This record gives sequence, C-alpha cells and structure tokens, in this order.
Amino acid sequence: MEYIKNKIRDVIDFPSKGIVFKDLTTAFKDPRALHILGWDLSQKYRDKGITKVVGIESRGFICGSILAFELGAGFVPARKPGKLPAETVKASYSKEYGKDTIEIHKDAITPDDIVVIHDDVLATGGTMAAVYDLVKSMNPKKIYVNFIIELSALDGRKALPCDASVESLIVY
Ligand code: AMP
Repeated sequence: MEYIKNKIRDVIDFPSKGIVFKDLTTAFKDPRALHILGWDLSQKYRDKGITKVVGIESRGFICGSILAFELGAGFVPARKPGKLPAETVKASYSKEYGKDTIEIHKDAITPDDIVVIHDDVLATGGTMAAVYDLVKSMNPKKIYVNFIIELSALDGRKALPCDASVESLIVY
C-alpha cells in the first residue's frame, strides 16, 4: 500500500480554497499502482457472489470497471444528471465541496443482484449515501461499499447507513 500512497498527489485548494484534493490520476497512470489497486480492491469480494459493480462518475468508473472485470460482474454507471439515455432514478445530495445530483438507470439492478458500489474517495459521505439509497430502492440481495481512499477526519462513515458493509484501501 505504501507504493500506492506514494503515487497519490495532494493538490491544495482544489477545486476550492481549503480542500486538499487527493489526486489519483498519478496512481492510475502508473502501471504497477493500477495493477495493485485492481487486485487489492477485488480481494475482499472474491467469494461474495458479486453480480454488479456500480461506479460513481467519474473517478469511480476507473477502478469500478477493473473491479467488475476481476469479479466477473457487470458494470453499472452512476452518472451526473442528463447523461444516461433511458429512464432513471435520481437523488440530490451535498458533498465536501458543493451540491450535486446522481442518476442510475431504473433497470440497472434487479432483486437477484449482489452489488458493490465503488468510488475513489469517501469524504463527507453524501455522494455514497445518495447512491446507496438509489441502489437499495432496487432491492438487491446485498450491497457492499468500497473506496480507494477514506478521509477519516470528515467522518463520512456516519453518513452511510449503519447496515452498510464499508471497505477502504487507504485511510488518512
Ligand atoms: P463526499 O460526498 O463528500 O463523500 O465526496 C465524495 C466525492 O467527491 C467523490 O466522488 C470524490 O471523488 C470527491 N471528493 C470529495 N472530496 C475529495 C478530496 N478531498 N479529494 C478527492 N476527491 C474528493
């Protein structure tokens, strides 16, 4: 994990003053770091019968797709408003820097699914809590939640439902 930690770049005051942005592009562009990320993220779920990975736009698409590939599961994008072409369910929420809305195709998850929701960073938890509620409204058998980075000072886990099974690779 030290190898990956050393590849993550802190960008001060991005996208607004006071935010220390954890830039993962510097890890994603490194072949060894990307390989370790894909492998380590998937290890916890190998025996869980995962059928769908939901990736949150946009940085959650990168390792979310790798996770789906590693687990032999399908990939479902959770996207910003107006991007998905068919009928959607949507939720609005607050995050570390501002407000947003997120959408998932209405037919993306079924009651037979066992789902992992993946995002790059857990900050205040608003984004993941919104996506969790959307996925839950489709009644899958089980939902797991997974991040590359957790910013523990922001207490994002408190925003997530207490029944959520949450894993983070790197906790700051
Ligand atoms: P939140 O809803 O506050 O947990 O914010 C999580 C979302 O915002 C994730 O999709 C992250 O990509 C992004 N994000 C929030 N804070 C940061 C940060 N300090 N560094 C990098 N990404 C962040």
